[in-house]
Amino acid sequence: MTSAVKGAAAAVTEGVAAAAQKTVGDAQEHYRYVIVGGGVGAGYAAAEFAECGLKANELCIISSDQALPYERPALSKGYLKPSSPARLPNFHTCANTPGAPKQTAAWYFKQGIDVKLKTRVTSVDIKGKSLEAEAPGPRHHHITWDNLVIATGSKLISMDKAEGSGLKGIVYLRTVGEADDLVQEIQECKSRKGHCVVIGASYIGMECGASVAPHGIDVTMVASGDRLFPRLFTPEISTFYEDEFAKHGIKIIKNDRAERFVDAGNGRVGTVVLKSGTKLPCSLCVVGVGVKPEVELFKGKLPLADSGGIQVDGSLRPVGHKADSVYVIGDAAAFPLLRRGGDLQNVQHVQHARESAQYAVQSIMGKASGDYDYLPFFYSREFDLGWKLYGDQAGEPVYFGDKAEGKFGCFFVKDGKVLGVFAEGASDDEAKAMRAVADLRPSFQSKDTLARQGLDFATKIAEADHAHKRAKT
Ligand SMILES: Cc1cc2nc3c(=O)[nH]c(=O)nc-3n(C[C@H](O)[C@H](O)[C@H](O)COP(=O)(O)OP(=O)(O)OC[C@H]3O[C@@H](n4cnc5c(N)ncnc54)[C@H](O)[C@@H]3O)c2cc1C
Repeated sequence: MTSAVKGAAAAVTEGVAAAAQKTVGDAQEHYRYVIVGGGVGAGYAAAEFAECGLKANELCIISSDQALPYERPALSKGYLKPSSPARLPNFHTCANTPGAPKQTAAWYFKQGIDVKLKTRVTSVDIKGKSLEAEAPGPRHHHITWDNLVIATGSKLISMDKAEGSGLKGIVYLRTVGEADDLVQEIQECKSRKGHCVVIGASYIGMECGASVAPHGIDVTMVASGDRLFPRLFTPEISTFYEDEFAKHGIKIIKNDRAERFVDAGNGRVGTVVLKSGTKLPCSLCVVGVGVKPEVELFKGKLPLADSGGIQVDGSLRPVGHKADSVYVIGDAAAFPLLRRGGDLQNVQHVQHARESAQYAVQSIMGKASGDYDYLPFFYSREFDLGWKLYGDQAGEPVYFGDKAEGKFGCFFVKDGKVLGVFAEGASDDEAKAMRAVADLRPSFQSKDTLARQGLDFATKIAEADHAHKRAKT
């Protein structure tokens, strides 16, 4: 290790243990760049700062989490696998980006980035460019900045008002600590030969249901709507995944809601009672009923949108605060989605966290051009299935492919243009072509041809675009 690195302010310990702190007591610290939050957005922002020539001691990340920034989506997928589960440090942020650094403690140390783990920011003074934070010990930090990046993400919607909500065996999933609790509860449920109830049938509900069942546990999912994931799926797509869940022995109860939890007599959950009166016996209950932006800290200090996120303009700076050098990235931002006519959107998906982080850092470093232009992208994996959705699911769906072969999807078309594309089982190359289609919004000959060609249509559009760009250079 070079002496420059030794002398750097980086103070991160290996693994998920608490970071060693550079300062103790009521110290005052100043950084050129401060990121509040230490999740996906923070990790990608740190990588981008490093790429843009960050110097030692310039960047501080303050995170209430116990672990260095990691790819959160892994928690409901690889982390819960019965065999060869994903574990840190193998899925820190950028882990799957070709050529990207491995963002372990050693990397943060080498970059001279001070990461304060298990540290919660308790108040922020935007005009005074300062914040207060509390760490275990307890330790108090007073930190000032030149540039602030807000990356506080989302917080889980909890059922803590429901009767019996404090019973053991009721779990939520947002952090790696909660994923560890879930892994332990899965073992406990297995050893009791118990059942699992999953409350919620969108992202987290579907992924957790699909991850718990392979452990040999009976799973029942409770959906408040009349089908799986109505926010993103068409009825036909919902039916496909409902059939797949049924094939894996997972029962889905629709049009119902969990209302209360009943003690098994040992302080553990024994029954979930639904609004309809249905009683579901269980010894494990996973609650996945949604998230909302984690922006309490900024109430009354920065403009909040109706969605709850901090309202930013196309440069990702809070409206009315252009001069303050504050940027908001990831789940916490309500930003104008240019591809939907500048409508204000809260996008709680990992790709937006990554891209908004990169954009904000480039902007701070004077390297961004134009406004943040995000192309919506959603994905998920259940069992050995994997779906992707690029662009808008507006307009009429035109289906293609063969469901029986597990490779199918639909284009979303409107006014003679393809606005978006959904596909199950697309290869990496096909996914790139899907992205190109959603980006270019091409016109098409007829719905019949589109249905017949399926992803070949996307591939042809992507190839033509590639050839056109090559010819121009
Ligand atoms: C289990 C799970 C699976 C997911 N799967 C998918 C998927 O398949 N596809 C997809 O697109 N998206 C998925 N997501 C959503 C995706 O992970 C989020 O959109 C993404 O993590 C948002 O990044 P972020 O940086 O905005 O926030 P986060 O990654 O949530 O990070 C926020 C950070 O801020 C910290 N923080 C908050 N308040 C404070 C404070 N006051 N002081 C200090 N630190 C604070 C938190 O500790 C955390 O470290 C999933 C999410 C979860 C939980």
